[in-house]
Amino acid sequence: MEKLILMILQNLMIKYKSFQLCQHKYDLNFLELAKNCKVYLKNNTNTVDEFTNYLKQQMVKIIRPFRPDWDVYFMKIAYTIKQRSNCMKKSVGAVLVNNNKRILSTSYNGTPKVMKNCNEGGCDVCKESKTLDLILYKCMCIHAEEGCILELGITQTRNTTLYTTLFPCVWCCKALLQAEVSRIVYCEQGNWDLSLQIIQNLIKHDQIDIEQYIY
Ligand SMILES: [Zn+2]
Ligand SMILES: [Zn+2]
Repeated sequence: MEKLILMILQNLMIKYKSFQLCQHKYDLNFLELAKNCKVYLKNNTNTVDEFTNYLKQQMVKIIRPFRPDWDVYFMKIAYTIKQRSNCMKKSVGAVLVNNNKRILSTSYNGTPKVMKNCNEGGCDVCKESKTLDLILYKCMCIHAEEGCILELGITQTRNTTLYTTLFPCVWCCKALLQAEVSRIVYCEQGNWDLSLQIIQNLIKHDQIDIEQYIY
């Protein structure tokens, strides 16, 4: 991949700076190639030497283009955890992380331990309901977000970040508020109008930060 990126960079140079260098060396469709490129660097240099120096300076970005930042890292973990969900209606994964980037707890949604799994008929509500939002207040499944808090105990959740694959429902918003989780990073929007209102009001009072991350 490094070679691919370098070739694109050289092509960029050729295309936009009209350099004669290696003009016909690569038989590649530039735009097609660029679509698959993970790193884009703007080339403002005028000579090959300048260009080479510029590349050396940017080498960290080129060599490790796939190293995820922390939000990506934890969200990917949340998606792995989601795969363990046993709820037949919706799978959700969550990770609770402290300010030192240490994972404190993880959870996915599903029925409590003492019951049959949701996908084995453990939750009648999930089994019978056709929609997701109407059943929440009667559903037997523990949600991934509340599972994270339960794992830890509410005394250890203050000023943590929750990564969740789905925007928290009203029930979980209440739990997260009580647990004093200070940041929520989510991916899928879900369909929770009231949750959004609750969270938006909390943001106004600077109690919680919320960010959407598109995975
Ligand atoms: Zn369920
Ligand atoms: Zn929930």
